[in-house]
Amino acid sequence: MPGLRRREERRHAGRHPWAGRALRHGRSQDGGVSIPTRAAGLDALDDFVPRAGGAYARDRNHDPGPDRTNVSGLSPYLRHRLVTEHEVVDAVLSRHSLAAAEKFVQEVFWRTYWKGWLEQNPEVWRRYRVEVADLLAGDLPAGYEDAVAGRTGIEAMDAWASELVETGYLHNHVRMWFASIWVFTLGLPWQLGADFFYRHLLDGDAASNTLSWRWVAGLQTAGKTYLASASNISRFTDGRFAPSGLATTARALDEEPLPPRSPLAPDDVVGEVGDRVGLLLHEEDLEATSLLAERPGLLPEITATAVHGDPGERSPAGASDVVAAFTAAALEDAAARTRGQGGRPGRVLADALPATVVAWATSEGLDTVVVPCAPVGPVQERLVVLRRALGAEGVALVTVRRRWDSIAWPRASRGFFPFKKQIPELVRQL
Ligand SMILES: Cc1cc2nc3c(=O)[nH]c(=O)nc-3n(C[C@H](O)[C@H](O)[C@H](O)COP(=O)(O)OP(=O)(O)OC[C@H]3O[C@@H](n4cnc5c(N)ncnc54)[C@H](O)[C@@H]3O)c2cc1C
Repeated sequence: MPGLRRREERRHAGRHPWAGRALRHGRSQDGGVSIPTRAAGLDALDDFVPRAGGAYARDRNHDPGPDRTNVSGLSPYLRHRLVTEHEVVDAVLSRHSLAAAEKFVQEVFWRTYWKGWLEQNPEVWRRYRVEVADLLAGDLPAGYEDAVAGRTGIEAMDAWASELVETGYLHNHVRMWFASIWVFTLGLPWQLGADFFYRHLLDGDAASNTLSWRWVAGLQTAGKTYLASASNISRFTDGRFAPSGLATTARALDEEPLPPRSPLAPDDVVGEVGDRVGLLLHEEDLEATSLLAERPGLLPEITATAVHGDPGERSPAGASDVVAAFTAAALEDAAARTRGQGGRPGRVLADALPATVVAWATSEGLDTVVVPCAPVGPVQERLVVLRRALGAEGVALVTVRRRWDSIAWPRASRGFFPFKKQIPELVRQL
């Protein structure tokens, strides 16, 4: 399966991984090339804040191409919590009123909404994982290889496939058009499109990606699909693309009914904290300082810190080199910022295998490993296995959920519109 990914990357070969637009606003190293660090994310935020008010509301749906400045490009940082949702909303609201920055703040809360919804409907993720594995293991549908290689003959789709593979980023409107054309014009399974995005997006996120693809396909809001049209594409790409031959109807897909919602875990901290505590960060949350500041007194002195991650768990076909390089650099950055006893910097573990974490924990003489709570997705799956492996050695795994998630997720039980109404109240509380 990794062969599939390599073929995609060779076909779109060309630019330096960090030449991607998503990183353009980050701290420059040389010649404007940016790096995946918290400092770069904070710089990107500073740079964007003045544009987060009326300008964002007016221009955000346009995609002028890779040099765009009308959207923030913060998603790779937010997705790894190199920069948190709280910091982003706080920075924007210290410059603009909530009324002026309403659109931008709502978009940040879309991310939170999707995560809270999937948390309460994990069956959607379970099915997606099984269906992607089955589809990739079977005969790939006709047209799939051309679509991921940028050879559909639809100029816009082919350009967007290349942009995705080369830079790890696509504008939101492009993601909607791409998904719509994939499902309704090319007739390809939505799960394979979601998998293609997930493997290549720097911000690839189990909730935002899977649920947005479902929304386009008419599964998320049952019966309501999103149909891309040439006129809309032409208008919002400022005439760069006006594809012909697109589907003119979009019949919603259907699925087996979902089971009832699962309640969220009531406790923010799960597990008993002992005396010799290690802190283990992962790619869902790489900002320990603000996480621990929310729980004063929870932990004794931290004996040792480590960081681990494996973006390859996103798909049976792995993750792209661009994603792998971003994640590796983000883990290094988090390790350097997260200190244990005597100011010792964190260690980046060689891999995310349970045995590697167990070896680290026992070499440090730990009785507890504390991790940030991981939402539904591959890291949560990894932590389930890790809890058992550590438990077998007498080491407890303790998860800590952020206040942001604890307060907002329970409200994501229905559609986005009822959730959206609660944003002013959420902002006050958070
Ligand atoms: C088919 C499809 C797949 C997507 N897959 C992902 C994904 O894997 N990961 C991901 O983070 N986003 C995903 N999105 C949402 C959205 O496209 C990106 O978050 C956004 O384009 C990121 O660019 P930005 O940071 O410049 O956004 P801005 O417009 O500057 O928004 C600021 C932040 O708000 C959040 N946000 C904005 N729009 C959305 C949205 N519609 N849904 C959820 N969060 C949003 C992001 O964290 C973003 O960084 C997907 C959308 C679609 C239609």
